[in-house]
Parts: sequence; C-alpha cells; structure tokens
Amino acid sequence: MINIPGFSLNKQNLTLKNHLLEELSRVIDNGGFILGENVKLIEESIAEYCGAAFGIGVASGSDALYLSLLACGISPETEVITTPFTFFATAGSIERAGAKPVFVDIDPETWNINPSLIEEKISLHTKAIIPVHLYGCPSDMNSIMEVAHKYDLKVIEDAAQAIGALYRGKKVGSFGEAGCLSFFPTKNLGAFGDGGMVVTSNREIAERVRLLRVHGAKPKYYHQVLGCNSRLDELQAVILRIKFPYLEEWSKRRRKIASIYQELLSNLEKDKLIKLPGEPERAYHVYHQYTVQTDKRDELKVYLKEHGVGTAIYYPLPLHLQKVFNRYGYRQGEFPVAEAACRQVLSLPMYPELTDGEVQYVAQIINNFFKK
Ligand SMILES: *Cc1c(COP(=O)(O)O)cnc(C)c1O
Repeated sequence: MINIPGFSLNKQNLTLKNHLLEELSRVIDNGGFILGENVKLIEESIAEYCGAAFGIGVASGSDALYLSLLACGISPETEVITTPFTFFATAGSIERAGAKPVFVDIDPETWNINPSLIEEKISLHTKAIIPVHLYGCPSDMNSIMEVAHKYDLKVIEDAAQAIGALYRGKKVGSFGEAGCLSFFPTKNLGAFGDGGMVVTSNREIAERVRLLRVHGAKPKYYHQVLGCNSRLDELQAVILRIKFPYLEEWSKRRRKIASIYQELLSNLEKDKLIKLPGEPERAYHVYHQYTVQTDKRDELKVYLKEHGVGTAIYYPLPLHLQKVFNRYGYRQGEFPVAEAACRQVLSLPMYPELTDGEVQYVAQIINNFFKK
C-alpha cells in the first residue's frame, strides 16, 4: 500500500548524515558549545541571504518574535496588530511582551493579513504590526509598510515559514524593523531541535536583541535590562550550516511540486470545488505548505488517509477564539474569512524529497474524491 506521509525528513537526513556527524564531532572535540564559531557564521550567512545587515541567533522562532518586540520598545498597555490565522506564537509573543494582540481579518486569496482592514484597528495605543508570511507566501508588504509609515508603527515580520521568499525582488524579513525566522525541524530550513533568528538592518535593534538573549548582561554578570536565556544552540548551528547551501535548491523543488499540484488540480478549481494557493503578483512563494481550501475538507482528509496520504490542518482554531485570549472578548463571527479558513484548509504533502510520481498520486486521489 502506498504511504506518503504529510511530512518526512528521512530521505534528507540520510543524504546528509555522514557530513552532519563529522561536523558535530568536530564541535564535540573543540568545545565552544555556547555562542561559538558556528552560530556566528550562520548568523552572517543568513543575514546576508535575507538582505539584512545583522543576524542574531536565538532559541526559537517564538523567542525571535518576543525579543524583537522587546527590542522595538513594545511595552505593557500597548497594542500590536496581527492576523488571527497563524501559529499561536505570533500572538503569544505579543502577549508575553505585555501588549495586547489586536486581530485583523485575512485576505481570502493569500490567507495573509488583509492590509485594507488594518487602518480601522489602529488606536492611540497601537505601536506595531506583525504580518505573517503564511505557508511561505509573502504578505502584501507595500500596503503594510504604507500604513505603518502613515501611523509611525514598527513592522516586525513573522517569516518563520518563509525564509527565502521574495516580494518585489526583495527577501521577506528585510522590509520591517526586524524579520523573525524559525529553524523548527519542519520549517524550510530546519535544525534537529528548536532554533530561531532575528534579522535586521537596524544596528540598535540588533544590539538590543543580542543583549536580551543573554539576560541583558553586558559585560557578563552586569545586567542592564531584563532579558532571558535565548541563544541559538551551537550544535543546531552546525546542522543549519550544513543544510543552508541546499536551501535555494529545496525552495525551487517546492515550487516545482506546487506547479505539479496546480496543473493537476486546476480543473477542480475551475469547477469551484477547491481553492488552490495562488502566487501574488511579483511574489516568490516558497511553499512551506501547499494548502488548499474546500468545504469538503474533513471528508477529503479522511479519503486521502484511506489512500495512504498524510495531510495536516494549519490551523483548526483562529487565535481570537483561543481560550488564552478569552478576556479580550473577541467573538465568533468577528473574523469570518479566518474562521472559514480554519474550517476548510488542508495542507497536502510538501517537502523537497517528494517524487513527481508521489505528487501525481496525491493529485489523482483528490481528483477521484471529487468525482465520486
Ligand atoms: C513555527 C512558527 C513560529 C514559531 O517558531 P518556533 O521556532 O516553533 O518557536 C512562529 N510563527 C509562525 C508563523 C510559525 O510557523
């Protein structure tokens, strides 16, 4: 029986394993386990890749968001605007910084924050906007930066799913004050554990994040501000350094897989049975996920599973309806586009090691489902 998991690293790891073990063993021999040479080198490579002057390795993508907010001066009693249709960490980091997450509904085409709805949510307390480049698809940064400039708001990009994506020829993460990356194992550039990075071209913000990740100490044992322990681990940095040279190639392969899905499922889209992910004009999508939307989502998921195909739902509950945010009084129906997406989206298998044949098989099963 055919088995195509929703996600797998097995093939990739097999190819890289010997090289990884050699380099890891070098660190074990040399020591330097905290903020060593490998962290410094991957910070430089990734900052340059993202078109930013500085890269600061931190313990996770979540901490990259949290520390960026602190470095941008986000404090209690302020508000930060973001999308309700994202991984929890986006809004969780706002809450952790003591600010209030203020949600804005999404664009039904891209599932990213709808820039035309931002202005009406800006108050005297609003200090920043966090756009998320969901599934690897760039947000409409022109419109977002325009509103931000008009109201003097900081922009912190959640690029956890979108390393390498371009908007108008420019890398995501380089538009705002800071860009936040995650190296969680399933991300487009994944470590073997948690890891993250802040990229920025603002020297002051870079220095603040660098200070915050070591408990605000400068010099060591003299604490200037309240930070935390949040560093990119040296061993994870080794893994990232080995994988990083493949990233462009992997992104291209993801785009190729997306084009096969697109070709084989476009008839269903024409018949309005399914919505496929589009690529906005002048954007370079890196397809962290290949996500489709259909009102038969739950049945389709079961059908695919019966035919050996794994899928996932990112995300089943929008953030404004999460229990942890109850006290803000957000209501069901307040963000209808995001709520519909939560009921209807399904992410198909998407990783560079999928073969064309496997992708064709998944598309075939989906076509069969709608012909039943
Ligand atoms: C993964 C992810 C994060 C958090 O990254 P971690 O490294 O898991 O902490 C934040 N935002 C989005 C959109 C993500 O997908």
